[in-house]
Amino acid sequence: MTSRKNERPGSIVRRTPWPGSASRPVVSPLQASVVYAAESPDSLDAQYEGRLQGYAYAREGHPNADVLAGKIDRMEGAEGGIVLGSGMAAVGVVMLGLLDAGDHVIGSDLLYGRTLRMLREDLPRRGIRTDLVDATDAGAIESAIRPETKLILIEVVSNPTIRVADVAGIARIAHERGIRLAIDNTFTTPRGFRPFEIGADIVIHSITKLLAGHSDATLGYAAARDPADREAMAIAAATWGFTPSPFDCWLAERGLHTFDLRYERAAANAAALADHLAGLDGVRRVVYPGRADHPDHARATELVGDRYGNMLSFEIEGGRAGANALVRAMPELPFAPTLGDVGTTLSHPATSSHRGLSPEQRAGMGVSEGFFRVSVGVEEIGLLTGEFSAGVAAARAAGPAL
Ligand code: PLP
Repeated sequence: MTSRKNERPGSIVRRTPWPGSASRPVVSPLQASVVYAAESPDSLDAQYEGRLQGYAYAREGHPNADVLAGKIDRMEGAEGGIVLGSGMAAVGVVMLGLLDAGDHVIGSDLLYGRTLRMLREDLPRRGIRTDLVDATDAGAIESAIRPETKLILIEVVSNPTIRVADVAGIARIAHERGIRLAIDNTFTTPRGFRPFEIGADIVIHSITKLLAGHSDATLGYAAARDPADREAMAIAAATWGFTPSPFDCWLAERGLHTFDLRYERAAANAAALADHLAGLDGVRRVVYPGRADHPDHARATELVGDRYGNMLSFEIEGGRAGANALVRAMPELPFAPTLGDVGTTLSHPATSSHRGLSPEQRAGMGVSEGFFRVSVGVEEIGLLTGEFSAGVAAARAAGPAL
């Protein structure tokens, strides 16, 4: 036993110097430190002035966020993207960093629900006016432009209706009119589509979804083409505190390593499951952009080639009773309103993401009681087709015909 006689009381409180190693770890270290000790006031000064690279305080930046951001930058063909505490934090820094009271924003009327809420309620409360428009029609976007319009925000593929925006048309109009185009690329992912290549100015992601891919990290990403916009967004992120957790960044980096493989397998499964569902009695319609019967099939093919993604929707006969029976007949398949997990998840927009709308509003969007959205995962396809066949059969047996 070593003697403890000479140990000074309280010295255990001081941090132990990190052990040196001639070899380096293969895995990115998880750097949980909130604060970084500088060598001297001079060196701290040099860091803040950008003459020395270094971290000071985790809210303003930390290595796990930077490693992750650098990887997504490469995937998107971006520079200087930032990682935020959630996908909504990413939408938030774009708005807070780039807009002022008196500005006007045009958004797609089929944006993610929380983003819609931000545009409908939160921005107008702060003096930023907004209009929500059908983004499958570039002409409708153009008609909504005002002299004070500063930003157009769209998603390539809408949720859960899986409609495809006229991205090329909107990018052309935004460019001609000198208005920033922000694209939330969460659904399509950089594997399907790279917004900067079509002229977008801002790219947004909920990393929480396919990029991280395991439903265990909540994160977002935002990148801008213009260095001044990047700077403004980074300042907004540090000021408003949209900081991501180092552990979440570490998990997401790990998930990102298998992203390509997961995407390919999940997209192939989605195409096969869409065709399978379309052949089942009791399924009224299947919505998947890779199918020739999708209203935006040609536009989707132009934008994403054959990378139609892992998201599909379908509608069964039988209303709510049928929907309950379908979910109960697939007990091992998580009925959970998220997307992009490594495994398949099922959601029912009428009782989750779209419950705040009236039945008439939902009907106008095609979101009936028998409408489901599927985020297809990487399981063996036979497992999925078997489960969905059982679910649709149970719905048929339970539900009154619509
Ligand atoms: N954007 C899209 C398209 C989404 O689907 C979501 C969440 O589902 C978000 C943004 C928000 O992301 P987060 O849940 O990470 O805040």
